[in-house]
Amino acid sequence: YDLTLSIRGQRQRCIRASSMTTRLPQLINGEFQQSQTDTWIPVTNPATQEVLCEVPAATAEEMESAIQSARQAFLEWRETPVSERARVMLRYQHLLKEHHDEIAEVLAKETGKVFADAKGDVWRGIEVVEHAANIPSLVMGETVANVARGIDSHSWTQPLGVCAGITPFNFPAMIPLWMFPMAIACGNSFVLKPSEQDPMTPNILAELFLRAGAPKNLLQVVHGGKEQVDTLLTHPEIKAVSFVGSVPVGQHVYRTATDHLKRAQCFAGAKNHMVVMPDARKDQVISNLVGASCGAAGQRCMAISVAVFVGESQQWIDELKDELAKIHPGAWDDESAAYGPQISPKARDRVLTLIKQGKEEGATCLLDGSDCSVDGLPDGNWVGPTLFSDVKADMALYKEEIFGPVLCCMTVDTLEEAIELVNHSPYGNGTSIFTASGAAARKYQHEIEVGQVGINVPIPVPLPFFSFTGWKGSFYGDQHAYGKQAVRFYTETKTVTSRWFDDDIPDGAHGGPNMTINLK
Ligand code: NAD
Repeated sequence: YDLTLSIRGQRQRCIRASSMTTRLPQLINGEFQQSQTDTWIPVTNPATQEVLCEVPAATAEEMESAIQSARQAFLEWRETPVSERARVMLRYQHLLKEHHDEIAEVLAKETGKVFADAKGDVWRGIEVVEHAANIPSLVMGETVANVARGIDSHSWTQPLGVCAGITPFNFPAMIPLWMFPMAIACGNSFVLKPSEQDPMTPNILAELFLRAGAPKNLLQVVHGGKEQVDTLLTHPEIKAVSFVGSVPVGQHVYRTATDHLKRAQCFAGAKNHMVVMPDARKDQVISNLVGASCGAAGQRCMAISVAVFVGESQQWIDELKDELAKIHPGAWDDESAAYGPQISPKARDRVLTLIKQGKEEGATCLLDGSDCSVDGLPDGNWVGPTLFSDVKADMALYKEEIFGPVLCCMTVDTLEEAIELVNHSPYGNGTSIFTASGAAARKYQHEIEVGQVGINVPIPVPLPFFSFTGWKGSFYGDQHAYGKQAVRFYTETKTVTSRWFDDDIPDGAHGGPNMTINLK
């Protein structure tokens, strides 16, 4: 299973999909192997419905083999010097950069993302690998001399064992790269179960990891859905579980993993608000709202789905409508397209149902993307940009995560009211405020109960030397992804307290200048 061949193969497959369906291998025990399963799930191009490949639902034996192989890898890897672990990450980062465009092309075809967006998905992952290459300073412990007379204490971080990652469809490069590079740099081994909707990109990431010189069974990639996830959540060899996905599945993963006494960090759904103060720069607000609501077809956990205008809003909303009406979805290589299709017909139907429900509930639909088509691509899961005003907090349109290019506008009288509205939301992933007032910005960042705040920045995703810190219903767990928190999540701390007695020091009379100490 060679990267160059697989990338070329995927190009050909897009053309010859009807006559040839490729079955995606799994990475088990350092080899890309065909599954023995009877269950194969088609992976489709969301712009055309062409079947790009089929992905297996790993058998119970394959799951066991991957986990046991990862366990063996861990026993050696935990003894590997930290600088060697860092060097694997440096080589990996280099390879990912070298193949950036090729990975993005495969990613664009299986997700439908436009090429620039697909490249961004890969790039944000590369940044985490760069961070993981700093592992020697990140895993440093603490030391205090003389905690009592003649007694010193120091702490170390030590890896946990086999860790597992379960990833969603919407960032098939970035989110796997949030997980396994940090876990492995900390000295663990890793079993990855990517989304069955776009598994080709994670397979390529794994292939490059092997090429970077990582020990061959350190990373295992198994495929499938609920059954395979549940095996990871309940298997005694899995010590920690990282999950990113929807709220119901996140709750299930958190409950099951912790019930089986594992560490868990579960990043879940979101509904993010942008508060617009009357003194904000209109050009910035409008262009950022367009990109933050419709970019990636709204399929981002940090998308802005609610604009909250403080004070008079009509003129803002009119201009917003005009700008949203100018953008349209299209194929991944259509440079005029602002975004791609929804990932599946089911996802598209869900968005359309919520749009319909919004109209029935009494919100005003100013721009309706329900009946959207793209020339030459009649079978794509298209939804056009959609704008609602007069949205109320009790409407499904407001309460549900839509995960489509749909922006809801609300109007309040004061900043306090806006803060109350946002704080009342069960989600807490991201929010932003646009204002020229430092005092308003300070009040907002201080009082808002959301984990990631942008000030005149629409999608405040932290860079990897910070952590991705969603709150409330958007996150179940304690330690977040990447940054210092990932090191805490993927390691144990060992604290050593030691005392040495002065009269045990050998002097010249005992050993002389050439004395040797027998360490055995
Ligand atoms: P999903 O919950 O359907 O799937 C996520 C993963 O869980 C997949 O690997 C899938 O195979 C597995 N899975 C699905 N059903 C399962 C079940 N019943 N039991 C066990 N495992 C199951 O999510 P998705 O549709 O792939 O991704 C979109 C969701 O992810 C959105 O809700 C989005 O907000 C969320 N998300 C959150 C963040 C964040 O950082 N908070 C980031 C990206 C995506």
